[in-house]
Amino acid sequence: MDVGTTEIQPLWFNCDWAGELPGSLQQQLKKPRQIPVLVAHRDEVIIGWVSLVDRSNTLHQLYVEPGHRRQGVGTRLFRCLVSLMLDYGAAGIRLQPDMPGNSAAGYFLASIHAGVVPTDSVISLKSWVPATQQRIHSLQKALGIPAAYGISRGLRLREDADELTDIGLDCWQRQQKMLPRAAAAWSLMQHSAANDNVTLLPISAFRSIDYQTRLIERKLAAGQDIESILQVSAAPGFSEHHSGRAIDITDGICEPLENEFAASKAFQWLKFNAEDFGFYMSYPQDNPYGIIWEPWHWCWSAE
Ligand SMILES: [Zn+2]
Repeated sequence: MDVGTTEIQPLWFNCDWAGELPGSLQQQLKKPRQIPVLVAHRDEVIIGWVSLVDRSNTLHQLYVEPGHRRQGVGTRLFRCLVSLMLDYGAAGIRLQPDMPGNSAAGYFLASIHAGVVPTDSVISLKSWVPATQQRIHSLQKALGIPAAYGISRGLRLREDADELTDIGLDCWQRQQKMLPRAAAAWSLMQHSAANDNVTLLPISAFRSIDYQTRLIERKLAAGQDIESILQVSAAPGFSEHHSGRAIDITDGICEPLENEFAASKAFQWLKFNAEDFGFYMSYPQDNPYGIIWEPWHWCWSAE
């Protein structure tokens, strides 16, 4: 059989699969916060999947339909899962002793790790993790941030922007910076808004991983616990502000970083026009990331 026509697709926080879902996968996707699932499909028919236990780095199931086994589908699913987990900052995968399809997962892991892999253990992904991400893992550990932080929130790892340019002063007269292409888009958007008599001012744009680390260290030193801190601040390595693409915006009238911005003329203007400049609201109301609604936070997503 031609294995090349098999496609792998994440059904991550949405389940917009048009075709039929196998029964046990249907059960898994019924949960209110959907679990991370990757499906393999051939001719629009799902022939296998791999899933994680809800909001954790624990392997839940690796399954391939009997007629499609021994064709490399499981290995591809597992490899895609590993690369997806790395994108979300995971440092290891935990196996459970009673996991359905455990022998298959164990087999694939063993083939990759060239040895027997015991269940109920964490398999390190270290050999796949680039050095920059390893640094973030150490930071996470030192600050007491849970290992499954990225997976549980659906937040991707972000590296510091490698090139930055000034975008002018923010509402507190500090120089702000963005990725050059994002800065150009911001400047166009700001001028276009001004032509419509709408003021857009930066509150904060680029913020480095080190900056975010110091911020969290200060809060810890002041006696706050890490759980409460992570409700308002992103963990270092997971803020869109690292990328130089995100910008927090005010109109110079509203209190910065407050919901009242959503009632402003500037916000209405952004809602109708920002997309034309490549800017999107990252955390709308009821977003799947467990992050409060941030009407002020916009990210340049064009390439
Ligand atoms: Zn922001």
